[in-house]
Amino acid sequence: MKNSPYSHDTIAAIATPPGEGGVAVLRISGPEAVGVADHVFMGRSPLREVGAGHVVYGRITAPGSKTVIDEVLATVFRAPRSYTGEEVVELSGHGGVFVSRKVLEAVLSAGARLARPGEFTQRAFLNGKLDLAQAQAVADLIHARSESARRVAVAQLGGRLSVVLQGFRQTLIEACGLLEIELDFVAEDIEAIDKTALAETLEALRREVRTLIQTYERGRVCREGVRLVILGKPNVGKSSLLNALLARERAIVTDTPGTTRDTIEDQLDLDGLLVTITDTAGIRQSNDPVEQEGVRRSEAAAHQAGIVLVVLDGSRVLDEEDRAVISLAQSLNVPQLLVRNKSDLETFVKPSSPELLEASLSISAQTGAGVDALVQEIKAHALGDGLPGVDDVVIAHLRHRDALANTASFLSQALASLADDMSQEFVALDLRGALESLGEITGETTADDILNHLFSSFCIGK
Ligand code: GDP
Repeated sequence: MKNSPYSHDTIAAIATPPGEGGVAVLRISGPEAVGVADHVFMGRSPLREVGAGHVVYGRITAPGSKTVIDEVLATVFRAPRSYTGEEVVELSGHGGVFVSRKVLEAVLSAGARLARPGEFTQRAFLNGKLDLAQAQAVADLIHARSESARRVAVAQLGGRLSVVLQGFRQTLIEACGLLEIELDFVAEDIEAIDKTALAETLEALRREVRTLIQTYERGRVCREGVRLVILGKPNVGKSSLLNALLARERAIVTDTPGTTRDTIEDQLDLDGLLVTITDTAGIRQSNDPVEQEGVRRSEAAAHQAGIVLVVLDGSRVLDEEDRAVISLAQSLNVPQLLVRNKSDLETFVKPSSPELLEASLSISAQTGAGVDALVQEIKAHALGDGLPGVDDVVIAHLRHRDALANTASFLSQALASLADDMSQEFVALDLRGALESLGEITGETTADDILNHLFSSFCIGK
C-alpha cells in the first residue's frame, strides 16, 4: 500500500451540498483534527477527551473569541477507524450557507487547510481504506441518477470487483514465482515447472479476464443510462410517442408536418434504467433552411444513439422518405426498433412486406396500445438480462475495460512466448506487464497524474 505523503496536514471542508437545509456537516481530517476542532468547539468537555464514535453537543466560536457562531453536534473518529483512516471530527451545524461558511472560516483560522475536491477520499485510498476501484465507486454512488447506476456503484464499493481482481493478481503472482524458481534452476538444466500446466492456468485466467471485459457494455449502460433516439419522417407520431413514453405532455403535437424542428430531450426511469429519449425533427428533404437545420440535428442525434426507434405511420403505405429513414437507422450499427404507429385507425394496414411485419411492433401513441410491449423491447435491447444483481460483478468504466484489455494482451504474449519455448524471462516480463495493468484498476500501479485527475473530479468535502 502506498504511504500517504499528504497526511501531515489537517484538512477541512463542508461535506454537504451548498444551499439551505436541515444540517450542514463540516468534516475535518488529519493528525490535528481534534486539536483544531477544540480551538473552536466549546462543549462540556474538550473533544480530545471524547471517546471515538461519540457525539457531543457544543458551540462554535472563532478561535480566541466568545461570540457564538453556531450550535453543533460533534462526532469524533479516531485513526485508523474513520473514513480517511486519520483522526476525523465532523461538526453538524445548522444548514445555512452563511452560517456554515462562518464555521468553516473559524476552523480554517484554527489551523486546518481547505480540502481539495476529493481529498478525503484520496486520503482514504492512500491510507488503504479503499482501493481505487472502490474510491471511484464512491463518486459513482454520489452521481448515480438511477437504480441501475446505484446498484453497480454499491457492488463496486462493497469490493466485489476488487476481490475478483485480487484473485487474478494472486494467480499472476504465483505464476511469476514459479518462473523465478525456474530461472534459478536454468544453470543446472533442471525443468522445475510444468509448462503445460502454466499455459493452462494462464489461458483460464485470460478467459476470466475476457469475460469480465464483456460485462462493460452492460455496466456502462447501467451507470450512464441509454440514449434512445426516435427517428421518422414528419407526422408519423414521433412526438406523440415521446409523450406516451413519458406518460405526460412534453412535446408539441400538431398535424402540421415539420413542426418539431429541433431535437427534444427528456429522461425516463424505465424500471431503474435511465433512458434519455430524444425526439427528432422529421427527416425529409426540405427547402426551408430552419427545417434543414432540424434534419441535420436529427441525423447528428441519430449518431449518438444507443438504440434507435424508427417510427412509421402504419395507416399509410411506406414511401421513399420512410425508406430513407430506415436505411439511415440501419447504417448506425446500434440496436434498432421499428414501430408502426396509429394502429387505432381503420386505415391501419398490414405492411406489404412480410419482413417489415416480422420486424415491427404495432402501436398507437394516441391510445397507448402496444406502448408497454415497446417499453419491454427497449429494456431488453438496453440491458439484455435486466439490472445486475447485487452479486454480479460488472465493470462500468472505460479505464477499467482498457486496463483489462491490456492484461489480456499481456497474457496472450506470455502464452505465445511459452508456446515458442522462449526464455522464461520473457514470459515473466509479460506476466509483470499483466500485473501492472491490473494494478491500474485498483490503484497499486496507477500513475500519480491519473490519480490526481480522478480524485479532482470528486466534489469538495468528499
Ligand atoms: P411527428 O411529426 O412525427 O412528431 O408526429 P406528431 O406526434 O406531431 O403527430 C402527428 C399527427 O398524428 C398528430 O395529428 C397526432 O395527433 C397524430 N397521431 C400521432 N399518433 C397517433 C396515433 O397513434 N393514432 C392516431 N390516430 N393519430 C396519431
